[in-house]
Amino acid sequence: MKAFNNNYIIFFCSEKEWIPFFYLFFITFAFHNNSMLTRIKELTELLHQHNYNYYVLDNHIISDSEFDKLLEELAYLEKEYPQYIQQGSPTQRVGGEVTKNFATVQHIFPMLSLGNTYSFEEIEEFDRRVQNAMLQKPEYVCELKYDGVAISLIYENGKLLRAVTRGDGIQGDDVTQNVKTIRTIPLKLFRDYPHFFEVRGEILLPHKAFEKLNAEREDIGEQPFANPRNAASGSLKLQNSTEVANRSLDCRLYMALGNKLPFITHLESFTKLKEWGFKTPETVQKCNSIEEIRAFINHWDMEREKLPFDIDGVVIKVNDFAQQQQLGTTAKSPRWAIAYKFKAKQVLTPLLSIDFQVGRTGVVTPVANLRPVLLAGTMVKRASLHNNDIIQQFDIHENDYLYVEKGGEIIPKIVGVELSNRLPNAKKVAFVSQCPYCQTLLIKKEEEVGYYCPNEWNCPPQVKGKLEHFISRKAMNIDSLGEGKIELLYDKGLVKTSADFYSLKPENILGLEKRTADEAQNERIVSFREKTTENMLAGIKQSKNVPFERVLFAMGIRYVGETTAKKLARYFKNIDTLANATKNELKEVDDVGEMVAESIVQFFNTVENLENIVKLYKVGVKMELDAENQTLISNVLEGKSVVVSGVFSIPRDVMKQKIEQHGGKNVSAISRNIDFVIAGENMGPEKRKKAEKLSIPILSETELEKMIFSLNY
Ligand SMILES: [Zn+2]
Repeated sequence: MKAFNNNYIIFFCSEKEWIPFFYLFFITFAFHNNSMLTRIKELTELLHQHNYNYYVLDNHIISDSEFDKLLEELAYLEKEYPQYIQQGSPTQRVGGEVTKNFATVQHIFPMLSLGNTYSFEEIEEFDRRVQNAMLQKPEYVCELKYDGVAISLIYENGKLLRAVTRGDGIQGDDVTQNVKTIRTIPLKLFRDYPHFFEVRGEILLPHKAFEKLNAEREDIGEQPFANPRNAASGSLKLQNSTEVANRSLDCRLYMALGNKLPFITHLESFTKLKEWGFKTPETVQKCNSIEEIRAFINHWDMEREKLPFDIDGVVIKVNDFAQQQQLGTTAKSPRWAIAYKFKAKQVLTPLLSIDFQVGRTGVVTPVANLRPVLLAGTMVKRASLHNNDIIQQFDIHENDYLYVEKGGEIIPKIVGVELSNRLPNAKKVAFVSQCPYCQTLLIKKEEEVGYYCPNEWNCPPQVKGKLEHFISRKAMNIDSLGEGKIELLYDKGLVKTSADFYSLKPENILGLEKRTADEAQNERIVSFREKTTENMLAGIKQSKNVPFERVLFAMGIRYVGETTAKKLARYFKNIDTLANATKNELKEVDDVGEMVAESIVQFFNTVENLENIVKLYKVGVKMELDAENQTLISNVLEGKSVVVSGVFSIPRDVMKQKIEQHGGKNVSAISRNIDFVIAGENMGPEKRKKAEKLSIPILSETELEKMIFSLNY
């Protein structure tokens, strides 16, 4: 110890006196670490409890932002002390892991499917069979039949071990990483759960989330999903779990399997499942007679449109497990349960004509115009034929009577043709071979289902669609150009590419006028008076301040949505580097796969695109990241949607930039999806009222500062 003494400690303590210091330091360090472990454990528990309260019990004890604050603290601590991460930590919800191939896993108990029927007589028959096999009168439980994706979850020691799809019933795909991002699926259970057991249920996508997802897909030129079930099953198979986390999947879990489980009836199992932390069906009813079953079925057949998700029938099960065992199973399905499937609500109506619509990316979508008919409470006049497949599949002829269905789904679909009504000389409907707007020969790409018009630069709906996209709110946000103005400018030959907006002169547009009709056939006049012209030009000029990432989104590169544009901008910093990037370099960027990379390369290989970019650059549209925006300062606000309102000590744009620099997202309107509002002086009273009504936290500028600086503790 001599040498040590001499060198380091000697200058403030004499021989041997350093020892207590050493211990003190050691103890402090150990204690500090220990308290971190305690805090991590505490936060993990707390978040599991809040998650359960919120998503399973629908009991909102703390606000979303408080929840996220705790989650952030946990994520921060886990990053600093990875050795203390608890199994099933709630931070896994945000995803991040990428699965290349889903492993095939054998089910512990085969996943049988239920026998199903559309006729009530068969339900009566089922009841008779059950009664004949029983000594006692059976008790039934009726529940809704969710139209989602069946899932099997295995829990060991209260932690989610594995999630497997049904597959062929014997083996399915291991989708654990993706399922972990679903908030309603517990990663960790509460007390008194069995050591090892399996839970089954259904993963579903609520209507609202489905509509949002499809709108986003259509916006970047991807095929929309046909229904929520397809969307849910497609989501479970995504390779990037972060993307799954954004899809707002939900679940209902309704069956437990295992050894010596602590319940003897199906209904009791619901109570236990809920106690352990699972989201069980809200609608379950004990039925003692066939009449009660009939009433339950009829009630839900009428009411199902009001549910926020799709159901396709009712499941009837024998309640008592001993009786279930006594009844046993056939090779395919259990004898103690049956599913009654609702007949989809259907109508027969004649086809009037087919429109072939062309979108901004050139994709051609056939839409059937039908004789208006009332279906499940709404008037149906049009139905999408998606692509050529449906026309071929049903061999649709002109004036055919089509069966249109709305089986709880949102978009009506064509499910068949009534052949007896077909006119003798009716011609087969052919998919157009030429673009109906510009007569260019349509092209079909190998890997894609749809046809598209390749005349990107001269096909009117594509050109106008691109211009509309360019000025849209999330892009250049030139709202003074809305309401038919683009149509008029295009018709007069004044604007053909986005760069043309910037060379518009008042003398060319003043006094232009056009009469149009909206969808309801109301006449509308679009005209450029002095004030309109002034506003429009001011709006165009102002758009030169729009940051590079939004300019990039505005360019309308196929498959490049708002988020991808942002990631590309942050990664490549300016248009030159991006335009010269190879496919492999592009794929380095988070979320950019083969298809997106290919589309970007193609975009920058097109002369017209490059010419337009040069023109935009020359007039002063931003083609590189702002210096202060080059790096993300922190991710304290990651995933947060924020509304900024009022006057602050710094300009509002700077405030917004600050939010972005810390990973947050600026949103203009207040809705349920907002995490909080930053209110300055004179915040709009309407906004405040709305935020208060939705219980959205309203923070001051100082509180935001505190939040941002809390990172530096
Ligand atoms: Zn065309």
